[in-house]
Amino acid sequence: MKPLDPQLRRALAERVGFYRELGIYDFYRQPTVQVETRLAASRPAENELRVLRDGENPVSTRTDSAALLEAIRLDIGECTRCRLHQGRTNLVFGVGNPAADLMFVGEGPGADEDAQGLPFVGRAGQLLNNMIAAMGLERSDVYIANIVKCRPPQNRTPEKDECDTCSPFLMRQISAVRPKAIVALGATAAKNLLGLGDSMAKLRGRSYEFTPPGYEGEPIALFVTYHPAFLLRDPRQKKETWKDLQLVMRYLGLPGREKSGEASNQPAEA
Ligand code: SF4
Repeated sequence: MKPLDPQLRRALAERVGFYRELGIYDFYRQPTVQVETRLAASRPAENELRVLRDGENPVSTRTDSAALLEAIRLDIGECTRCRLHQGRTNLVFGVGNPAADLMFVGEGPGADEDAQGLPFVGRAGQLLNNMIAAMGLERSDVYIANIVKCRPPQNRTPEKDECDTCSPFLMRQISAVRPKAIVALGATAAKNLLGLGDSMAKLRGRSYEFTPPGYEGEPIALFVTYHPAFLLRDPRQKKETWKDLQLVMRYLGLPGREKSGEASNQPAEA
């Protein structure tokens, strides 16, 4: 496929952002020439939005999701909406397959992530990679993001107002990716996504129905497990984490890395 002209790409991202502001999440394929023609026009009247031709079906594709994610990234810009911007080197948006079936959500960037602008790239990231591999997937198969996109000072837990300010972007990312399942990594991610104050012991071991604000479609299955950084401090909990991941695998119909014996599938050390 021919790469999009940068100007057209920007216009497309702007248009998608406009639709999102209206609460429109599903898009429909039309011939490229029509898309370009419509992008050249000014913002459409509301009754022009989401017009389908006879027999046309809604299609959610990797390209659609990628364009939506790009629009969200443009909206965030060089964000100063909360105090966490003060200490960041790089904003950490998210990474992975824009149309992934499985999404991991962590708490926030640490030092390595802040330095590289990518989520889960330090030792905890290596452990997450191992967890993903144990599920029989590649890191590039899934989408990874955090509740807050800027590193909290001294890696402290993000404050509620910081999470509240930043998490709408995550909600939009989830709506763009449209995963079948989300794994909340750690208590901060779980509590922010679910709005529950329960302990990890109570939150784990089951799935929840999760629907981002304005989301059109079936609720997304949400699972809770330990954050890889916690597992580095307390490796005994890896076994429990593996049980959580197996719940996710069963839900998604994933066979895992090896079919012979569950124990051998457990995530390796970071
Ligand atoms: Fe903006 Fe989120 Fe960073 Fe706060 S944490 S400055 S809301 S991107």
